[in-house]
Amino acid sequence: MLHPQPVKTVPLLHPIFEEKRIEVSMLRLDQVHFSVPGNKFFKLKYNLEEAKNQGKTTILTFGGAFSNHIHASAAAARNLGLKSIGIIRGEDSDKSNPTLAYARGQGMHLYFISRDEYRRKNTEEFIAKLMGTFGDFYLIPEGGTNPLAIKGTSEILTEQHQEYSHICTSIGTGGTLAGLAQSLRQEQILIGFSSLKGEFILEEIQQLMVRNSIQPLGKLEINTAYHFGGYAKWTSELIDFIGWFWKEFGVPLDPIYTGKMVAGFFDLVQKNHFSEGSKILLIHTGGLQGNAGFHHQTGIRLPSL
Ligand SMILES: *Cc1c(COP(=O)(O)O)cnc(C)c1O
Repeated sequence: MLHPQPVKTVPLLHPIFEEKRIEVSMLRLDQVHFSVPGNKFFKLKYNLEEAKNQGKTTILTFGGAFSNHIHASAAAARNLGLKSIGIIRGEDSDKSNPTLAYARGQGMHLYFISRDEYRRKNTEEFIAKLMGTFGDFYLIPEGGTNPLAIKGTSEILTEQHQEYSHICTSIGTGGTLAGLAQSLRQEQILIGFSSLKGEFILEEIQQLMVRNSIQPLGKLEINTAYHFGGYAKWTSELIDFIGWFWKEFGVPLDPIYTGKMVAGFFDLVQKNHFSEGSKILLIHTGGLQGNAGFHHQTGIRLPSL
């Protein structure tokens, strides 16, 4: 079992919240585990337990060269005494970036494939080929979203969060949002901020909800306006925002997920999206390992703890 640290919900105080008469807090999932932080802790927890229950000794998963999921999977497997294999998108990717160096340090065996091949990663032929190469393994999909991941993320919200009128989270595959939706209370509104460009995510989330028989008691809002250019893309406005947020609140954000979500949230506040008396919980889903990779790639140093 992966064991969680107690997670704090910290109030965020700012004149604009007073002016709009709203209360805002942040759930610091980035501190749930030292080496498996953020939502990835919840997504991996039951999957690794299942791998062990099935008697597997190795997990295999997929990701990009800077992936939080690869970083967390490597650490979680190491933590539980499982071997790990990471199939990385792009033969041309930077093999010594901080994320992959860390994963390798945790004992993950990295295997680089072309972008074309990567697109076929969910086909039976490809999985069979991997089994031929590596032997038996427990497969965790790219981004880690599957029913056991959703079971894990449905445990993020607890009784202590019933008082909130709004819950805000970032969206990648939607697995975290789906779990949150499952534990949503009546009259709560869950707002997901997509870090990917495009409306396709609405359909994907719909399918995820149907496939996992999730019928949220509360209301869902999916926001696709705050992708800042698309997945893993960024603007100087976003970088400035992350710096400003650090200065105001002492909380580091990442540029792929949490920075976009919190920037989107502030924009909604300014546009009076939240009525007076709203109590809003922002979920810090982690991702801070990526700030080292971001520095490695761009030379821009983002705040980190
Ligand atoms: C992976 C990740 C997400 C996206 O989670 P999904 O369940 O794929 O939607 C959001 N925030 C951070 C920091 C992540 O690492």
